[in-house]
Amino acid sequence: MSTYTDRPWLALYPEGGPTDIAPEQATVLDVFRASLAAAPDAVAIRYFDGVLTLADLDTASDALAVGLADAGFAPGDRIGLYVQNDPAFVIGLLGAWKAGGVAVAVNPMNRARELTHLLTDSGATALLCLEELYESVARDVLPGTRVRTVVTCSALDRQSRDDERVLGGVVRSRPEGTLDLEELVTTTAGRRPAAASLAADDVAVLTYTSGTTGVPKGAMNTHANVVFNAQVYRDWVGLTPDDVVLGVAPLFHITGLVGHVAVALLTPCPLVLAHRFHPEVVLDAIREHRPTFTVGAVTVFIALAGVPGVGREDFASLRTVYSGGAPIAPAVTDSFEAVTGRYIHNVYGLTETNSPSHAVPLGRRAPVDPASGALSVGVPVYNTVVRVVGEDGGELPVGEVGELVTSGPQVVPGYWGRPEATAESLPGGELRTGDVGFMDAEGWFYLVDRKKDMINAAGYKVWPREVEDVLYGHPAVREAAVVGVPDAYRGETVKAFVSLKPGASVTPEEVIAFARERMAAYKYPRTVEVVAELPKTTTGKILRRELRDPAPG
Ligand code: AMP
Repeated sequence: MSTYTDRPWLALYPEGGPTDIAPEQATVLDVFRASLAAAPDAVAIRYFDGVLTLADLDTASDALAVGLADAGFAPGDRIGLYVQNDPAFVIGLLGAWKAGGVAVAVNPMNRARELTHLLTDSGATALLCLEELYESVARDVLPGTRVRTVVTCSALDRQSRDDERVLGGVVRSRPEGTLDLEELVTTTAGRRPAAASLAADDVAVLTYTSGTTGVPKGAMNTHANVVFNAQVYRDWVGLTPDDVVLGVAPLFHITGLVGHVAVALLTPCPLVLAHRFHPEVVLDAIREHRPTFTVGAVTVFIALAGVPGVGREDFASLRTVYSGGAPIAPAVTDSFEAVTGRYIHNVYGLTETNSPSHAVPLGRRAPVDPASGALSVGVPVYNTVVRVVGEDGGELPVGEVGELVTSGPQVVPGYWGRPEATAESLPGGELRTGDVGFMDAEGWFYLVDRKKDMINAAGYKVWPREVEDVLYGHPAVREAAVVGVPDAYRGETVKAFVSLKPGASVTPEEVIAFARERMAAYKYPRTVEVVAELPKTTTGKILRRELRDPAPG
């Protein structure tokens, strides 16, 4: 019987294709510059009615890097990127690297409390921020952080912005004390940033995740990690400069960052961006720009296939569709295929694996585990070894259920400023994923459970402790416990159980409203149940699992 280190899954790779690839020891900036030198006028990004070439990205990111350096930003410094799926995000990344810095990817849905945590934890001294978010950020966030340079940017969706300015009759003026991305392009014209020395093993981006425990930590996605998994996407899918990538995953998430931005810069090929995900808008973009490849959460594909009037011809160009971040019900792939004629390939990974550690090989269909009904997440990608281990960390025989542990060039070296969490989650450089599953004899992997307390709401990860911490701040709440409950559309959704302080009274709606004000929209509890007591162990620990799966009767 074979073992994990024998890599039985290699037999499932496309015949004649590579089983391993040579990791480029390069920064993402090197990769961008190589593409720029070869084809400066190649289209890098298409957004609504606009186009940016590689040369345009170069000019704008030079301006940002020069502006940052003038303001005292030094190599190794961190800059938060608080923008949506907009070209400004890509310019922010390139500008940060040209200044020798590290980008901190921020979910634009984050509220003040969450943004403050990311900026203070990363020690960011600069922030690229959408103009319309600036006022609240300046008031509620910046005073508690080390940020001293703010560069505002307007969404580069020129059509709607010009309409707004012309129709509204006002040209908004830039807030005092800030720089503006577009203005920098004019004021720094002709200046190039000083050459900053970046190495492949330097951190490119900090992406925040709670990993297997409750505190959001910055995963240190190095340039080598990002470039490797961009190579994986390119070679696994067989992308060439004739391809067009459709960006439907959030760019602040590692899947968007690697599976959209980095792979498009590496190939190079155009990336189609929509500022926000609206199924009709994205469908228009598909019809107009004819993308050939995309990767995103499965709910995105459900939403696209659900637009009235959508049909096979709309998806004719989209040869390859991958979906990751959350479990996919086999029935969902079937109904998507019935409408669009396209098969959704499963891809699995974590923030700590820079997107894929596993994917379904092209030309194959993921098998379903008859016992659990789980669709296989695929097989480990090039250069990657995944083992299944038991409670004691010992490797389990093939077929047995345990925790997946992953090693490969895409695994992060650790978490920013957190050596203990790094030692715990990445012993010897191998990632303990917190995902529980098994490998079958052929080499297909299946996930059947989780060791971590995470709730997976359509790919958006919610950690009960973070939500509970907020609920404890409500004056009527004595104790709180947050669990994931099944949801037909999102897979799982957030539910809170609270008990109240003596004499206090509060309605579930009031608790929901309180939470909603204080956290990103995907995190707040959709339902709240007020109970007399929460179930506890004899030592007083709240039994979340009992609330999630109540004993029958
Ligand atoms: P993130 O760090 O946001 O990328 O979340 C990683 C987690 O998402 C993994 O540990 C899994 O629990 C879950 N996940 C990612 N991809 C899949 C997939 N294809 N199927 C099931 N769960 C997935």
